[in-house]
Amino acid sequence: MSESQGAVLVVGGAGYIGSHCLHELRSQGFETLCYDNLSEGHRQAIGPTELIEGDLGDEAKLDKLFSERPIRAVFHFAANCYVGESCEDPQKYYFNNVRQTLGLLRSMLRNDVKRFIFSSTAATFGNPVKDVIDETHPQDPINPYGRSKLMVEWILRDYHTAYGLDYVALRYFNAAGAAEDGSIGEDHDPETHLIPLVIQAAMGKRPDIKIFGDDYPTPDGTCIRDYIHIIDLASAHILGLEYLEKGGESTAFNLGNGKGYSVKEVIDTVERVTERPIAREVVGRRAGDPPVLVADYRRAAETLGWAQRFGDLETIVRTAWQWHSAHPEGYAD
Ligand code: UDP
Repeated sequence: MSESQGAVLVVGGAGYIGSHCLHELRSQGFETLCYDNLSEGHRQAIGPTELIEGDLGDEAKLDKLFSERPIRAVFHFAANCYVGESCEDPQKYYFNNVRQTLGLLRSMLRNDVKRFIFSSTAATFGNPVKDVIDETHPQDPINPYGRSKLMVEWILRDYHTAYGLDYVALRYFNAAGAAEDGSIGEDHDPETHLIPLVIQAAMGKRPDIKIFGDDYPTPDGTCIRDYIHIIDLASAHILGLEYLEKGGESTAFNLGNGKGYSVKEVIDTVERVTERPIAREVVGRRAGDPPVLVADYRRAAETLGWAQRFGDLETIVRTAWQWHSAHPEGYAD
């Protein structure tokens, strides 16, 4: 069997980003498998891919899977991802995001599975020292979530050197939007992200949207973030795998859309797309929010050949709206 045969194992494939990766992998003709304990994800999000239900800590189950099924690579999304919660309960983050990943890697290495695409984050950079962030920006995370992801990046570097594990770490900026066919989308509990919250306000599920500060040093005073379409994010994972299979050097890439949008621009765009007025209230700043966070994604474009298909905010919001309006209760509908 050639090394490029076998399934892509998506660990955490029932979650928001994992499920969109499964969707994109299938649409590009890849064989897929999903490993998930369904603690936070949704069974319906997995689609027609086979689910192996299990915990990351269950190395016996992982060993059985890796020894019985040909696995071409592992895409790893099973992690906790709330900054605020990570400050209140760091143990949960270091255990689930670091210790459990060590178990997954140990099982992979034991079974000679040596390609790994890792879901990392712009939170590994911490407070930006410049507005547009490339891969050389210092990594000095300011919360346990970002630190847990950076620890895994370090572990991957060492495992590459010592054990020949090949990896690509993808540092996401603000993932948003939904699959174009409307079959899957974002369904977090609790929801904390701006675009789904503004859409909930447009749907009347919440009375208004709170703007966390309008006194930032930005053109309209609200924070600027880099929103990247979830399918564009997914396609970068596949390009990362193909890059490794062609012998590419293990490394990390920043993934964003390269354009910043302010909180007010996001709300205005949702109003335009949904054709519904949205009440807004300016409240105090949220702790830990830098004024501007925008990715320099040129390295991913040049090295992986990555290009965005859904790069503008209007498209991101339109696909998100299509999902939320058809599934007002998310996967419970
Ligand atoms: N934000 C806001 N109101 C909300 C949620 C978020 O004003 O109810 C702002 C937040 O301060 C940040 C931007 O929207 O500037 C994006 O926040 P989100 O939580 O979606 O992503 P983050 O950038 O924190 O990863």
